This record gives sequence, C-alpha cells and structure tokens, in this order.
Amino acid sequence: MLQLAHISTHYGSICAVNQVSLHVNQGEIVSLIGSNGAGKTSLLMTVCGNPRATSGSIHFEGEDITNLSTHHIMQRGIAISPEGRRIFPDLTVVENLQMGGFFLNKPAIEAGIEHVFHLFPRLKERAHQRAGTMSGGEQQMLAIGRALMSKPRLLLMDEPTLGLAPLIIAQIFEIIQTIRSEGVTVFLVEQNANRALQIADRGYVLETGKLVLEDTGANLLKNDAVRKAYLGG
Ligand code: ATP
Repeated sequence: MLQLAHISTHYGSICAVNQVSLHVNQGEIVSLIGSNGAGKTSLLMTVCGNPRATSGSIHFEGEDITNLSTHHIMQRGIAISPEGRRIFPDLTVVENLQMGGFFLNKPAIEAGIEHVFHLFPRLKERAHQRAGTMSGGEQQMLAIGRALMSKPRLLLMDEPTLGLAPLIIAQIFEIIQTIRSEGVTVFLVEQNANRALQIADRGYVLETGKLVLEDTGANLLKNDAVRKAYLGG
C-alpha cells in the first residue's frame, strides 16, 4: 500500500532520514521505533510531503506521490495525527472535527463526527468544550478523531501516547486496534516500543536516520538488541 524506496530527508546540511526503504501492506499495523532524534517524525512528515524527500520515491496504492503537495497526498487517502496533537485550542471539539473533514459535504461531516463520537464517547461528552481546555488524553483522542474525519485508508500516527497517563495509554492502543479492525491501515511512530510492537504486525527500528532492523512485532520484542536499547533490558 505504502512503499518508500531509498528515501532521504535533509534540513539544510543535516541528514534526518538516510536512504530508508520500507513498506506498509494494506490492513497492517506497522510500528516504527527509535530513540529521540532518530528521524521518526521526519520520516512520517516526509510521507506527507513536508519536508520533501531529497532523494528516493514514495508510492501509495501504486501511485508515485513523491512530488505531490501535502493537500493532494491527503486527498489520496492518507491522514496524520501529528506529534504534539496540533489541535485548534480555541475551537470546540465539534469545530476541530469539522476542520478535519473540510473537503467533505455536510452529511458526510455529520456521519464522520458520529463515527468519531462512537469511537471516543469522551469526545461526545465534551462536544462543545474548547479543545484547549481538555486533558492531554482527550486532546490526543481529538487529534486521532480529526485525522479520521477525512476517511483515510492509511493513518499515520506520531507518538500518540506521549506524556499520557498509563490508563489513557492503554485506551489509545486499544483504539488503534479498533481503527485497524475497521479497515484503516496504521503506520505508527512510538517511543513506547513495548506496546507499539505488541500490537504491530511488523516493525522497523530507526537509528540516526537509518533503518537497522525489520521484523515481525513478535520477533522484535524477542530481539536482544531491541530489548537492550528500547525495552529496558
Ligand atoms: P523525537 O522522538 O525526539 O521526536 P524523532 O525520531 O522524531 O525524534 P526527528 O524529530 O525527525 O526525530 O529529528 C531527526 C533529526 O532532524 C534530529 O537531529 C533533529 O534535530 C533534526 N530536525 C528535525 N526537525 C528539524 C528542523 N525543522 N530543522 C532542522 N533540523 C531538524
């Protein structure tokens, strides 16, 4: 479904992503793990066209999207819940969700909001609350819900559990599995390597911009190098 071939991304002279080739099959949850600054966010954002890859190619459902604008990439069926959530703090929950479905017609927006409320009953209770006044966990649910509003076939998720309490983290990982069971393919970037690999069909390990390991989630959990570096021994 998603295929990256020899992708590199630079910020000026800094190489954040170095010749990465990977793929995500339809229906999978694929987790990308790596330490701070490994280039995980840069890789996800490169799939979205911002920043642009400095070399290599990205194909989605067989189409070359390497040089498409972010807007056109999103229209092809990719959505992202970004690092730091990036919700609109002064807008209500419903208004944030409407923004996520801005290119849909009114009935589709209403159906989308109903679907998000079904996934996240907490958001329904907070429908008319200003998003900036909600808890971190609620804001994360909103960021995921907003991404789902565009009815993506591929959802990119950047650190959805960062800074959240254990109970909320468990809920977010449950929701990721529910989203996949509804037919959405998930490419997940996480520092919480243990949980991310537990729910993943496959995983990749990124170190200083380069892929160093690729395997099933189950095998990576058993891998000595992964255990030492990312799973606390
Ligand atoms: P974290 O988990 O801390 O978010 P990450 O694995 O997502 O880390 P990136 O945020 O992609 O890593 O950063 C990869 C490298 O690129 C780092 O060295 C970082 O300092 C650099 N970098 C990221 N964004 C920029 C930018 N806008 N300008 C310059 N350098 C950047």
